[in-house]
Amino acid sequence: LTERLQNAMGKLRRKGKITEKDLREAMREIRLALLEADVNFGVVKDFVKTVRERALGAEVLDSLTPAQQIVKIVDEELTKVMGKEAVPLNKAPHIPTIIMMVGLQGAGKTTTAGKLAYRLKKQAKARPLFIAADVYRPAAIEQLQTVAQQVDAPVFQLGTDVDPREIVKQGLAQAAEKKNDYVIIDTAGRLQIDEKLMQELADLKAIAQPNEILLTVDAMTGQNAVNVAESFNQQLDITGVVLTKLDGDTRGGAALSIRAVTGKPIKFTGQGEKLSELDVFHPDRMADRILGMGDMLTLIEKAQTDYDEKKAADLAEKVQENTFDFNDFIDQLDQVQKMGGVKDIMKMMPGMNKIPGADQIQMGPEQIGHMKAVVYSMTPAERVKPGLLNPSRRRRIAAGAGRPIQEVNRMIKQFNQSRKMMNKMSKGNFSGMDQLFGQ
Ligand code: GDP
Ligand code: MG
Repeated sequence: LTERLQNAMGKLRRKGKITEKDLREAMREIRLALLEADVNFGVVKDFVKTVRERALGAEVLDSLTPAQQIVKIVDEELTKVMGKEAVPLNKAPHIPTIIMMVGLQGAGKTTTAGKLAYRLKKQAKARPLFIAADVYRPAAIEQLQTVAQQVDAPVFQLGTDVDPREIVKQGLAQAAEKKNDYVIIDTAGRLQIDEKLMQELADLKAIAQPNEILLTVDAMTGQNAVNVAESFNQQLDITGVVLTKLDGDTRGGAALSIRAVTGKPIKFTGQGEKLSELDVFHPDRMADRILGMGDMLTLIEKAQTDYDEKKAADLAEKVQENTFDFNDFIDQLDQVQKMGGVKDIMKMMPGMNKIPGADQIQMGPEQIGHMKAVVYSMTPAERVKPGLLNPSRRRRIAAGAGRPIQEVNRMIKQFNQSRKMMNKMSKGNFSGMDQLFGQ
């Protein structure tokens, strides 16, 4: 993130000092970015406070602009809050290393248990044993067995009529006998945290004395993840967190909240349903993901520096009224060109960097020329009312501009997306952005 921002901002005018106004604007963006990423409100508040204090006290670095300095601080603090470096799995001094999976129902305990076994077998030629201690759902044992079959590891199970405490005791005895080097206990979840579940887990902990208690949290649960993490940690003193379903439509703000609230490291992230889709957690990459919106800062500063102020005000009004049209689009392209044919401008727009292939989007003079040619081939009515652009009009425009029809379609789609997005943002509503960009 820092590198990209620094490149993008490299050309910016230098100001001496961070002003109150710079800071206020930047903090607003950051707060929104974090909230939009589902970071818990209390955590956001504390975080913004820390950043503000650091920024106010910051020495003015010659090479950086105020916005750069703020972004740098944000990036550093964010990475720091999430724990700088990846933390590896704990290992027992004598075999077996015992890993206990805990978490709410559907969080991904069983799937992650399988992924861990897959990883351990592959990397350390481990011989794990699973213990099926989720006795409340008949399908749970079957599911674990299916997973175990895929990774080719045994499951210890006594069906659903035996107390999980007893199952774990006997399972550990078997592991000792068969000299398994890892034991992975798959426990039951609930839809909500409840006393009975917690007591059962506390008992299992006392019996198994695990080296690792991994709390599995669904990244999509957003705000709720904080409460879940907090109470599991209070009751069980967990040793680490696995954040699952990061392949989904989430910015992963839960990672920040969980780390801030529990102080426990996030060790892995789940990135899909397949056994291989478990990654070591990288705080810096997560910071980047959470702060996707942070690039807005760059855009804002860039706009303030280079953008004609009157044009900007007009544009803001148009966006507000949702009358942003292709004529304004041309104006924007002109501005982009004025800013020096900024290649990175697309990447700086919120969400754009999450579109597959967005890296390849070129916005050099040639591409801008093509886009203009397309707009110039529209009738004045079409430029103001993009809704008119049906397939036959699009074909005519493509022919007129001498560009392929696919390119025209793509451009209109992009135009519609930015229009929608700008309108949303102007209303302070960031909630639809995920869907819009399918990140
Ligand atoms: P448990 O109740 O905590 O044991 O959760 P499961 O392991 O049964 O997972 C619940 C659902 O989430 C299943 O359909 C899994 O395939 C799915 N799942 C688990 N982890 C991931 C992940 O990282 N990405 C995606 N896309 N799905 C996941
Ligand atoms: Mg399960």
